[in-house]
Amino acid sequence: TGFIGGSVGGLGDMYAQIQRTVGASERILEILDEKSEVNVTNTLDFKKVEGNISFENVGFAYPSRPDITVLKDISLKIQSGEKIAIVGHSGAGKSTIVQLLMKLYPLNKGKVLIDKEDISTQDITQLRSNIAIVPQEVMLFGGTIYENIAYGKPNATETDVFEAARKANALEFIESFPDKFQTIVGERGVKLSGGQRQRVAIARAILKDPSILILDEATSALDSESEKLVQDALDELMKNRTTIIIAHRLATIRNVDKIYVLKDGEIAESGNHDELILKEDGIYANLVKLQFENVNLLVE
Ligand code: ADP
Ligand code: MG
Repeated sequence: TGFIGGSVGGLGDMYAQIQRTVGASERILEILDEKSEVNVTNTLDFKKVEGNISFENVGFAYPSRPDITVLKDISLKIQSGEKIAIVGHSGAGKSTIVQLLMKLYPLNKGKVLIDKEDISTQDITQLRSNIAIVPQEVMLFGGTIYENIAYGKPNATETDVFEAARKANALEFIESFPDKFQTIVGERGVKLSGGQRQRVAIARAILKDPSILILDEATSALDSESEKLVQDALDELMKNRTTIIIAHRLATIRNVDKIYVLKDGEIAESGNHDELILKEDGIYANLVKLQFENVNLLVE
């Protein structure tokens, strides 16, 4: 059952565990998210933020690779409730931006503010209690579906869990199992499809009710029915929350308020879809063309 089943150690413990997991920053984010939620169970109710986010001239290199500047000078402002997307090739720094927002590493330069407050002075557990992540690859822990959802809010009632599952479009498949919410998932239980796991993660996030939401979009497409159910569930989840989408499939971000294109540690382009698509030889415009052509290839 891995990390989540294990003990909830201190921060050092946590980093040690992370070191042992190779690569995959999405997985790291997920672990941190789980850990932070576990911590919340043991502490007081936290203050809810409005969810205004601002990066001011942020520069960053990983402590293990100080010679490689990952982010040179990133500035962005997200108003409470706005939806933004970050695009860029693999290794451009998309996940790094999210990790800095989660206060995983100190900055080399600049500031990150939430509701005008510098996060460097904020309590890390308080900060993370306001953020939920739906990762690219959802891993559930070995336990019941109920437990996996209730994880988002330790003092949740049965009604809360049921409602969250309903809003996440997960109720129907859960109730189709003989044991319903008590169905065991994971290695020793029922194997859920990718789309079903996504919806359990969405239900968990709905229950957590954070002001800030981070979606690391799945790279591979789900089957089209699952895709529609997941997308509708995400739309429900995104309502009234500041949302950062790490976008892999451009079709899903047409309607966001603003798209940021990351390149060489800087924001190379920003604007909404309609603006960016018109840019002559623009990076985003070219990416859209490329994905469109690939889709046609697949269809043929
Ligand atoms: P993206 O999410 O856009 O694919 P990342 O933010 O994961 O990109 O990575 C940005 C750069 O930082 C890459 O060159 C990657 O190799 C490097 N990087 C990512 N995580 C670490 C880490 N923990 N330690 C050192 N370098 C890292
Ligand atoms: Mg990434």
